Amino acid sequence: MADKNYNPFEVAVRHIDKAAKALGLDEATHEFLRHPQRELWVTIPVKMDNGKTRIFQGFRVQYNTARGPAKGGIRWFPTETIDTVRALACWMTWKTSVVDIPLGGGKGGIICDPKALSDTEKERLARGYIRAIAPIIGITKDVPAPDVYTTPQIMAWMMDEFETIMQESHPGVITGKPIGIGGSKGRGDATARGGIYVVREAAKAYGIDLKNQPFAVQGFGNAGQFAGTLGQDILGMKLVAASDSKGGVYNPDGIDAQTLVDYKLKNGSLKGFPGAKEITNEELLALPVTVLFPAALENTINEKTAPSLQCKISCELANGPTTPEGDAILNQKGIIVLPDYLANAGGVTVSYFEQCQNAQNYYWELDEVQERLDKKMTAAFKAVYEMSKEKNVNLREAAYLVAVKRVADACKLRGWT
Ligand code: NAD
Repeated sequence: MADKNYNPFEVAVRHIDKAAKALGLDEATHEFLRHPQRELWVTIPVKMDNGKTRIFQGFRVQYNTARGPAKGGIRWFPTETIDTVRALACWMTWKTSVVDIPLGGGKGGIICDPKALSDTEKERLARGYIRAIAPIIGITKDVPAPDVYTTPQIMAWMMDEFETIMQESHPGVITGKPIGIGGSKGRGDATARGGIYVVREAAKAYGIDLKNQPFAVQGFGNAGQFAGTLGQDILGMKLVAASDSKGGVYNPDGIDAQTLVDYKLKNGSLKGFPGAKEITNEELLALPVTVLFPAALENTINEKTAPSLQCKISCELANGPTTPEGDAILNQKGIIVLPDYLANAGGVTVSYFEQCQNAQNYYWELDEVQERLDKKMTAAFKAVYEMSKEKNVNLREAAYLVAVKRVADACKLRGWT
């Protein structure tokens, strides 16, 4: 996002325009979907540890609530802008819709550099933000969650502040909490697990054999590491390569994912992993693997790197790893791309399960969470796959059509448009 002229919300609106045309949406519904329903801009004074008061700017955007309360993370980011928050809130609307959970789309952000804040300053900022947005959040209105640079601990402070204001228990006001105060089992690996279930279904649909076949993970972080272990355990595949920001490792005979996770934890990077050859991130993308998991950053598969890809399936665990130019090249090459907001929706799905458990005040066992996640992800893939066949479009376009149609239908049913 270094490009100052790049406006993520304009890109989001272009996708809506395209979907509206393909679905033949009426003018009012189309126009309604092009705008956020509500935005709150807040100014938060925070007493810093040195006794001075600093003023922070924050936002909360509720893009669309036709299918249920808004849902989306809170980012703490030095270069946060309203356009980014708006675009991400819009995108959450399609993500909750494509996995068919009864929620809308929202997002929040605070302009700040969390690395320059002490824990006590973070706590005061978290509590100040919640005091500022309290009138528009709650289980029936809008449920925030962690996102870039916000953690389960920050969610715990936020929930506590909300409950202090309301003077009653409201664990479901926020998800991504620590398990000890109402978090869900199974949240840790949910994003990767959801992606793995989608790969399994795609392989069935397209007749691709996965057993003992090679796969690679670009970005061996939170989502990527679980893709490594679960790719082995659930899909029976062979991890041959992984990378992080410092470079990658490759062994065509296979790398045990858990051993690599432990190695990275101990050594801080993948460099020097025994028995593997060091490779660059570009080399990793070009490996002849059956499945590639881009799980690092946005814009890594672009017009420069896409021509060299040899995978059969690219499962986008990262948000926006493929540029439109890269996407066109992958399409031409016949690579099956499992689009980000389908492939990485496992996280938000388990966040929704957390809300359900909080509402019941009854907590599910791990196998129950995983079974329900499997059902949701499988059904989501099938809906997108059927749409891609019906409209003769790729899975990314089909995912937009499924998601936008459901939201447009909800707007109509409510009599809004
Ligand atoms: P993370 O910070 O834990 O991991 C990111 C990894 O990518 C790190 O290992 C980092 O070293 C590596 N990396 C950075 N630059 C790289 C480069 N140029 N080449 C290769 N590797 C590089 O983050 P995460 O939570 O795993 O998220 C990764 C992506 O998945 C992001 O796009 C995020 O938005 C998306 N995502 C994550 C979740 C989740 O639940 N964690 C949910 C939805 C989407």
